[in-house]
Amino acid sequence: LEGGGMPEDEVPVEWEVSASADFSSIEASGVSIASAAYGHSLHTVVELGEGDWYYRFRVSQYTSPVGVTHTSPAADTAPAEVRFAAASCQNYSHGYYAAHRDIAEQRPDFVLWLGDYIYESAGEDDDADDARVHVGPEPTTIVEYRNRYALYKSDPHLKTSHATCPWFVVWDDHEVENNYAGLTPQNPADAADFANRRAVAYQAWWEHQPTRLDPPEGSEFRIYREAAWGGLLTLALLDGRQYRSDQACGDVTMSLDPACPETTDPSRTMLGEEQEQWLYDTLDASTAVWNMIGNQVVMADATFNGAVLNYDQWDGYPVERERILQHLAAATVPNVVVITGDIHLAAVAQLSAAGNGARTPVGVEFITTSISSDGLVGDELTDVLKSFPELVDAELLHRGYSLHTVTAESWTAEYRIVADVDDPDSAVTMLSTYLVMEGSNTVAIA
Ligand code: FE
Ligand code: CA
Repeated sequence: LEGGGMPEDEVPVEWEVSASADFSSIEASGVSIASAAYGHSLHTVVELGEGDWYYRFRVSQYTSPVGVTHTSPAADTAPAEVRFAAASCQNYSHGYYAAHRDIAEQRPDFVLWLGDYIYESAGEDDDADDARVHVGPEPTTIVEYRNRYALYKSDPHLKTSHATCPWFVVWDDHEVENNYAGLTPQNPADAADFANRRAVAYQAWWEHQPTRLDPPEGSEFRIYREAAWGGLLTLALLDGRQYRSDQACGDVTMSLDPACPETTDPSRTMLGEEQEQWLYDTLDASTAVWNMIGNQVVMADATFNGAVLNYDQWDGYPVERERILQHLAAATVPNVVVITGDIHLAAVAQLSAAGNGARTPVGVEFITTSISSDGLVGDELTDVLKSFPELVDAELLHRGYSLHTVTAESWTAEYRIVADVDDPDSAVTMLSTYLVMEGSNTVAIA
């Protein structure tokens, strides 16, 4: 950085952690290397006791803003409560991040990020009357993906949201390319170099996310993993993109034709065999009161008279979905709550497994709307969605996120909505509240 040129390949970065915002006493400190090979990102794992911890970085005369994080309670503790925000889908050109400002004001224990952190669209394809526009082409190289993350991370409200609490992050499709499946891009013209493109996109994701995962090596990168909040909550964080079979029936959307036979081919998968087994093992081993599944695409049945409206969702992978629901029923995994993003609308669903006659409730799904990405389904379909047997409620007009408060007795989900996504200072208010009582597997509008 001396003289304002390009940074050195290896930059020593001093870091400090303190229990107080003024850094009057230093709990831990050290020097880590930010290397050009990883876009000068820094991932340092520091073991700390339970509580709030302030941190900052220094390179020569430059000191970073201060961030605060919160360590998770030990496995053998029984925390009275955990409060977290679930969010996804922050298309930079579609609006501002008032929702992130509100997340920071709410001071949750953590943020659960369910994907579409960046969007890969080319700047020139953005709408001229959008709130703001992407810079650069559709990313395909490591430098272009890094630039895309840098653009998103320049947003002040997103910075504040990160600096307020720890995040658990997984990806969805747009971190690479819209609706890709495994090594199959949505656009056949991109097939030749897609494995390489996916690998650099995964690396750029790792560089720019607050994760303890080791950097990717080779073309695959396992990000599905387990986390916990004491004995209160187990988190199973899924990757529904990297191992999935290509979408059935040509990935047609909003078709009212009956599902094509490919849909029910039992070999088709969203999670892949290994991850599906890992999910069962994780849930079966959990002794927590609540078992949360952090999931990319809508799991509830949203089919319409036998038509699959969105083959990218679990509706397009019905055999594997029913196997998972049956596992929840048969293994009696208690208190399952699935949290989902992707679809840019807010909804609540009752998950159920086929039984003798009627379906048995096996859990609840909270579908969180987008931070800023445009709605995909017209508001005129709100009542149609609410009429689907598994959908308890739906709201299609607003952007926002969901805020969850979990105790040993109950799970409360608050849906918070942005009044005007084109205004970074927009009001963010509570839309509705939902309640799941421990042991019930059912959800009520509170
Ligand atoms: Fe999205
Ligand atoms: Ca998505």
